[in-house]
Amino acid sequence: MNKTSWKPQKPPYRRYKAKELGDLITNGQFVFQIGESPALRMPSSQIDVGKLQTPEYKKKVAYVKKCMLAYRKTKKGRAIAAVQVGIPEHIIVVYTPERKEKLWAIVNPVISKKSETLLRYPEMCMSCNGLIAYVIRPSWVEFTYLDEKGKQHIWNTKDTTKRGKMYNRVLQHEIDHLHGIINIDLVLSKELIFISDPHFYEKADFQKVHPGFAKASSGK
Ligand SMILES: [Zn+2]
Repeated sequence: MNKTSWKPQKPPYRRYKAKELGDLITNGQFVFQIGESPALRMPSSQIDVGKLQTPEYKKKVAYVKKCMLAYRKTKKGRAIAAVQVGIPEHIIVVYTPERKEKLWAIVNPVISKKSETLLRYPEMCMSCNGLIAYVIRPSWVEFTYLDEKGKQHIWNTKDTTKRGKMYNRVLQHEIDHLHGIINIDLVLSKELIFISDPHFYEKADFQKVHPGFAKASSGK
């Protein structure tokens, strides 16, 4: 139906991973892991608004959505950036079970404001399987974006419920991916831990960071 020459790019060593690593790295069949793609550490490109309705763009958005759903089979993962599945462009897909449309596509997000309040929370990334980084980020951000049809929106949900904090956290993590930043780059290596407790996230919570921290860490 839609004619385009674009084809999904798959990560390397897929057969090896399936055979040797089994369930541990199921997502490694379609999500590029650190070390497998230099694009993960490079800025992705913004999408030309004029191309939003092309078959190639639609196919790419559909592929990122398909990968998000495939990842959800692990019962984990809240969002994915296109660069993680080999498309270095400003597309994010968020899994939103409470919405009618279970998948929310965000195109060309640009952060315009950040809260002064900082929170620390253990984050996992689909590209660093099993590794947890306790990242400090603003409790909320405001950003503009386009939906997949090109309509402009603003995200400014500052609610302080756990769900509100979680969405603000996930969105910041994904927007970082578009700029070549992975959560593990934001912490000291000694702060990284491997998940071994299956109930880890039942106990995880947001911790408020002392207000003096931001000044101290920026050297002012
Ligand atoms: Zn990630």
